[in-house]
Amino acid sequence: MKTARKSFGEDYECKQPWPEEIFVQCGESGVVFSKEGNYGTAFFEAFPKSPSCFLRGEGATVEEAEEKCWNSYQKVISCDHEMERRNRTDGYGYCKHCSYSSMVFEPLTKCCKCNTPTAYSKDHNDKYYCKKHKRFKPKDPNPSKYFDDSYQRTPRKYKKLLKKGATKKFRDGGILGKVKYQIGVTGSKKFFCGGKVLNIMFKRQELMLAGRYKPKREGDEYSD
Ligand SMILES: [Zn+2]
Ligand SMILES: [Zn+2]
Repeated sequence: MKTARKSFGEDYECKQPWPEEIFVQCGESGVVFSKEGNYGTAFFEAFPKSPSCFLRGEGATVEEAEEKCWNSYQKVISCDHEMERRNRTDGYGYCKHCSYSSMVFEPLTKCCKCNTPTAYSKDHNDKYYCKKHKRFKPKDPNPSKYFDDSYQRTPRKYKKLLKKGATKKFRDGGILGKVKYQIGVTGSKKFFCGGKVLNIMFKRQELMLAGRYKPKREGDEYSD
């Protein structure tokens, strides 16, 4: 009998006669505590090749999850699929009767350069580009700070400089111990030492700390 790769622990021995070419995996998500009593949650996933799709079953135990997954597989291989787009425009379709879903349609969107149906790449004005014309796609002038790779991260050298400055400030204040720091995605910076926090709130403070700005008077303070 086939075995399924398990996220933790030993492999699970399948109870259903899965064909050898189908990759299967399973896992237990632990115990769910509820008023009705505690119960386990488990999943079982199969990746058939023909038709190529992804099937998942969930249950109280892996056995139960596998049985559900097996039943959907049986439905998929015996079904006369009737595909529909639902709310997708990229060509991906879902069968009305079983769990089969796949890229079966032409995309409803077209390349703005050659008019070929494509969902390959989309710019910030919702214009589409096929693989061949992707090089004409303009750069987003207002990239999201959180998800864009081009958002500049604080360079390591500069971090070191800031940490050195922060350490000096802590020591000057009579605070000893290891200095730790936290730099947020938005660029907010915090330093911690001996239960004290040094919050960098202004660019001027930061430059002072890095020794790149000479203040007329000390501005930053420690806070708990
Ligand atoms: Zn179907
Ligand atoms: Zn094109």
